Amino acid sequence: MNLQEEIKNLVESLNQWAYEYYTLDKPSVLDFEYDQAYTRLVKLESENPSLIREDSPTQRTGDVILSGFEKFQHPFNLYSLADVFSREGLSEWESRVCKAIPNPEYICELKIDGLSLSLYYENGQLVNAATRGDGSIGENITENVKRISDVPQTLKEKISIVVRGEAYLPKKAFDKLNDERELQGLSAFANPRNAAAGTLRQLDTSVVRKRGLATFFYQVAGSSPKDTQEEVLEYFEELGLVVNKERHFAKNMDEIWSFIEQATKRRESLPYDIDGVVIKVNSLAEQDELGFTVKYPRWAIAYKFPPDLAETEILSVEWTV
Ligand code: NAD
Repeated sequence: MNLQEEIKNLVESLNQWAYEYYTLDKPSVLDFEYDQAYTRLVKLESENPSLIREDSPTQRTGDVILSGFEKFQHPFNLYSLADVFSREGLSEWESRVCKAIPNPEYICELKIDGLSLSLYYENGQLVNAATRGDGSIGENITENVKRISDVPQTLKEKISIVVRGEAYLPKKAFDKLNDERELQGLSAFANPRNAAAGTLRQLDTSVVRKRGLATFFYQVAGSSPKDTQEEVLEYFEELGLVVNKERHFAKNMDEIWSFIEQATKRRESLPYDIDGVVIKVNSLAEQDELGFTVKYPRWAIAYKFPPDLAETEILSVEWTV
């Protein structure tokens, strides 16, 4: 097989898997397999830029917009995160950051395995909520998000702000949902991420309230009223938005890696699914300096956990909405 054919095959497979994952909420391959093929494609494309295809998944941000929902044009592009799968990969990213920024400081956060959301507050009131979609256009899911019990309809300050976060289904709520489905003769949801995505894209809003979705918020989209990521998270708490307490300040690779090791050990005992750790440059001015690629911030990276047995079982479970 020549290079062009290999690239074509990778693009076609990745696009089919993305359709199954984002549109059908029914993956047919492990995230690990998707990530490996994606990494191979990135390598081939960077060595042969003239062979980059327009339909390559490297040229767009993830999700596909479902029909049935109004489209929502985000005022800011909502980026995804670049992935690494080893300490070596992480160290390469850290070295790149250190070349641009003297003595950077980092915040390490858990990577919540749910559905990416952005919420729009005007004078403290929740006015819109949307999925990330392709980063530029998402789905307007305001009525569904209003039915997530931990999402404040009114912030504790009358400010106008756009916040990004993740909606997820806690493990207990996921087990309960699947038990109920079994009793009703319905097939099980594959995993909490698919169940959360399927729930938020329900046209019947009453279903959302019943299923017990929850949220964590982690970023201001657009200009931020604070100077560091740490301050943003503290401010969110003051506003009444839920933030994840499991975060860690780090000054170097050893400190980052020690948080990743702890997170890996604690992963199973957490009440929600995580698929990695996100490492972010703490200073927002330094984040601005590092900027973005077409798809990712340069100031953050996702370290993804290796696949586990539980994940392998996902694909053997039959799925319906
Ligand atoms: P991603 O899920 O790998 O990472 C980006 C997302 O992480 C952000 O958009 C945000 O929503 C989320 N996130 C969670 N916690 C966060 C935190 N603390 N800080 C910042 N962001 C946080 O990227 P993606 O573009 O949403 O999806 C791509 C991934 O989806 C692939 O790497 C693959 O694992 C999976 N996928 C799998 C298949 C399959 O068939 N199995 C197909 C397509 C995609």
